[in-house]
Amino acid sequence: MENSTETVDVIVVGGGSAGLSAALLLSRARRRVIVVDDGRPRNASAAHMHGVLGHDGLPPRRLLELGRAEIAGYGGRFERGTVSALTVRDDAVEVSMTLTGTRFRARRALVATGLSDDLPDIPGLRDQWGRGVVVCPYCDGWEHRLDVVGVIATSPRSVDQAQLLRQWAERVVYFPGAFGEPDPEDAAALADRGIRIELGDVAGLRIDGDRLTGVDLGDRTVSVGVIFIGTRLRPHDSLLRAVGATATEDETGSWITIDDDGQTSVRGVYAVGNVVNPRSNVSVSLGLGTLVGGSINLDLLADDIAQAGRAKRRAG
Ligand SMILES: Cc1cc2nc3c(=O)[nH]c(=O)nc-3n(C[C@H](O)[C@H](O)[C@H](O)COP(=O)(O)OP(=O)(O)OC[C@H]3O[C@@H](n4cnc5c(N)ncnc54)[C@H](O)[C@@H]3O)c2cc1C
Repeated sequence: MENSTETVDVIVVGGGSAGLSAALLLSRARRRVIVVDDGRPRNASAAHMHGVLGHDGLPPRRLLELGRAEIAGYGGRFERGTVSALTVRDDAVEVSMTLTGTRFRARRALVATGLSDDLPDIPGLRDQWGRGVVVCPYCDGWEHRLDVVGVIATSPRSVDQAQLLRQWAERVVYFPGAFGEPDPEDAAALADRGIRIELGDVAGLRIDGDRLTGVDLGDRTVSVGVIFIGTRLRPHDSLLRAVGATATEDETGSWITIDDDGQTSVRGVYAVGNVVNPRSNVSVSLGLGTLVGGSINLDLLADDIAQAGRAKRRAG
């Protein structure tokens, strides 16, 4: 397929839950689909995935393996690699891959490249990511309901995360770190629900063997069984920005905008999942993947009908 000029119906960039869900719908609709993926889904470090109906507790990689097998059964194809460029032409989009220079042409592109969580620079934290350090109460709160749950502030509003986690765990400790003492109203609300505040700069995490056991505050160590943190979200949207897709700002950052069908401001270029939506957990990604896949199919159908009409008129 090197330097191929073959045109397929849809190229899906990113084979996580959002991209694969769209690819399943499209390949079952007899569209020719290629999924290009470089194998780094956001939840790769998590051993188990939660809150996904029918798959609660399944290893996330297993969900993707099952999805790929289903799509392959309907003729969908897969390419391993990183897409480095997306080009939009009048009647087609083209993507090229790093290293090999392989190119694919398609009638429509769906970008489902996810996002990265930028982690605070705390010694020991990165090594525990997805295990002793997690981000999502709905994904991991139940599993830690009996633990001492630590919340290390990454913004003054991390108090809200501590309050949310109190819903699962009776023992919640809030570490404001560099943000210092919470304002009196927040401090009172934390105290009202029995949430302990531990002041002091966070020097690192205490790890015993491979297990997180505490938070090191320099002059003392506070025991915890898990840490929840907020992360800075970095959408993998450079391909979309490079073709001029428009974005809007909100309190979580700058996000490429899509319409109700998942189409960006660039005709023929669609996007779905975490790359455009910070709230797109696995279930939402699966659902929206189906929705956007269906919209792309109808968009292609409109072209098919117009083309058939032109061909008929030409013939006579
Ligand atoms: C530690 C952790 C645990 C989580 N646990 C849960 C949970 O229990 N339940 C839940 O619902 N959600 C959970 N999530 C959230 C979940 O990971 C995301 O909601 C989900 O992965 C979003 O799916 P996506 O398809 O949009 O992106 P992703 O799953 O991140 O997939 C994007 C894919 O695109 C590929 N890609 C990116 N750029 C390119 C490129 N240029 N070329 C080719 N391929 C590219 C990536 O390699 C990746 O495979 C968790 C997140 C984290 C961080």
